[in-house]
Amino acid sequence: TGTPLTGRVAVVSGASSGIGAATAERLARLGAAVVVLARRKDRLDGVVANIEAAGGSALALAVDVTDRDAVTAAARQVTERYGRADLVFNNAGVQLVSGIEELRVDDWQRQIDLNITGLMNVIAAFLPQLTESAARGGPADLINTSSIAATRILEKFSVYSGTKAYISHLTRLLRVELGPRMVRVATIEPGMVDTELPDHVTDPDASRLMADLIRDIDVLQGADIAETVAFMAAVPRHVNLTEITVLPTAQV
Ligand code: NDP
Repeated sequence: TGTPLTGRVAVVSGASSGIGAATAERLARLGAAVVVLARRKDRLDGVVANIEAAGGSALALAVDVTDRDAVTAAARQVTERYGRADLVFNNAGVQLVSGIEELRVDDWQRQIDLNITGLMNVIAAFLPQLTESAARGGPADLINTSSIAATRILEKFSVYSGTKAYISHLTRLLRVELGPRMVRVATIEPGMVDTELPDHVTDPDASRLMADLIRDIDVLQGADIAETVAFMAAVPRHVNLTEITVLPTAQV
């Protein structure tokens, strides 16, 4: 009985809003125990409350994933509560688009710190749990959130796109080492999803551009990405969906 997600232990970073929150709730609904990571504890508690109200199990850990020690400590708490994670949705990210000549160097750094260093911190902390699950014959999934920005040429997206290109290519290379160990490694590359992502943009022109794009078409919802992640984790163990692009139908 149950679904292919029953009994799995999922860690979701960036789970306090948007894609991460929707995915945490979906995975829990399908029977996984879910550990939610982000900085805003109140929002994480809300996600856990939703999961528990639906009969699921979840643990909120307020963690800034750019802090390596904090992520390492979170990984330890996961083992104490649930044994080991067998699904890591490495999803926390920030998109601060701006023209390069504006020299918004702090924004460049924030994107690099979170989208690259934060993502690597999560891999370092949880990879031993994934390889152990796989070595015991169990499931193991590392799913990194990239973006269609990884491959597209979009004005003002240079640093963000650079971080996402890093994630997409990193993931291809990780497969070479981890696939033979039966750890599935994948990227999901969403198009436009209605989340809090544009709210952090500091360049007013870029901010307007993003708001217009979202208004003009029927964009994706976090739940659409959640469904895709759940599917990637639910296929048989010998099947690795490696790179999935999800676009709103009307987005070109
Ligand atoms: P949101 O802004 O809604 O979610 C971002 C999440 O990351 C939040 O939960 C936020 O929580 C968390 N986060 C931010 N900084 C940190 C940090 N230092 N440590 C831990 N968690 C952090 O946007 P989305 O849901 O859209 O973004 C999720 C991912 O999807 C990102 O990687 C983004 O690049 C990607 N993406 C989004 C697209 C879209 O159109 N929305 C398209 C393609 C990709 P908190 O602030 O509480 O820490």
